[in-house]
Amino acid sequence: MSKRGSHKKSIEIESNNYCCYGCGNTVRFISPGGKEMCESSANKCPNNRKKNSESLIRGYKSGKRNPYNYDELPQETKDRMRWSKGKILKEPLFEYDGTGDHKKL
Ligand SMILES: [Zn+2]
Repeated sequence: MSKRGSHKKSIEIESNNYCCYGCGNTVRFISPGGKEMCESSANKCPNNRKKNSESLIRGYKSGKRNPYNYDELPQETKDRMRWSKGKILKEPLFEYDGTGDHKKL
């Protein structure tokens, strides 16, 4: 057996085994790592797709992947947010018909 062309590619096979990722489909490929699966790549298996999207949704729900999670923002963005926040807070003070503190003075 020659080992020419050792790039990682799944081998198409015929088998009555079930996909190792538990999707319920029969095996049609063997991965370079020897895994029997229904698609040419593990990411294509419907069970892995489901898992991926579920963990994504869970992440959003728990706030872990929330793009506006303040603590996870880079310092540069935090500085910019603080700056624009300061501008918004200042505005009512210079507004004569507004509800700023000048009415009490
Ligand atoms: Zn599968």
